Amino acid sequence: MTSRIGIIGGSGVYDPGQFVLEKRLDIDTPYGKPSGNILLGKLNEVDVAFLPRHGEDHQYPPHKVPYHANIWAMKEAGVESIISPCAVGSLNEHHKPGEIVIVDQFIDFTKTREYTYHHGPETFHLSIADPFCPAIGQEFRRQGDRLGFDVHGHGTYVCIEGPRFSTKAESRMFQDYADVIGMTLVPECQLAREMGMCYCSLAMVTDYDVWKDHPVNFEMVMETMKANLHKVSQMLENALPRIEGRKCGCASSADGAPEV
Ligand SMILES: [Zn+2]
Repeated sequence: MTSRIGIIGGSGVYDPGQFVLEKRLDIDTPYGKPSGNILLGKLNEVDVAFLPRHGEDHQYPPHKVPYHANIWAMKEAGVESIISPCAVGSLNEHHKPGEIVIVDQFIDFTKTREYTYHHGPETFHLSIADPFCPAIGQEFRRQGDRLGFDVHGHGTYVCIEGPRFSTKAESRMFQDYADVIGMTLVPECQLAREMGMCYCSLAMVTDYDVWKDHPVNFEMVMETMKANLHKVSQMLENALPRIEGRKCGCASSADGAPEV
């Protein structure tokens, strides 16, 4: 199977730009079916595999996304690097709606998810101090700057359980520790790391969460996402040919993991 770059599209990212579809893969995994068929094709001449995280009909809310099946199926489709364009709320005055954050750290405030592929008898402690691929992040920063978009090269993402949004008290607390807030990064990025895959979160700021001005709602999130999606598409098209074949140390972070 050809090595591919995987794109897991979050809310509002169902159309991966100038994607040319070649084949649909209906994959079964030991963890059940992924969110949908894996769409194989080309984006700017690069082999990619696209998967809508919430399903083609947006039927999987954040706490019900089949994360294990999704990452497993991507691996089976030959994916070595995953890029995740997603919508996030901002906890930071300087991260404005319409801007993009290349996330480089996360804090996990989810509550009811399965976090690993490894449930014994061998114990595996994943090394994840730096959870995201530095090489891919750097390329997106470079392309974002070149295209003249407001791109933040660093940012901490707090992942909450959802599907509800935060209370004001929660949001104010998170502001002390993180820049953006979302519901889907965990466990997705750590499962990818367990599989030895690179992972990069391309987070589009859609709102100021609930700490500022108006309470956030889903319609507002989708509206901002729609108005700014062209930025993500252009960054993908420009960065993908430069990411293909790049070397980094992500795969070795999973060394010592029991075979899956
Ligand atoms: Zn990497």
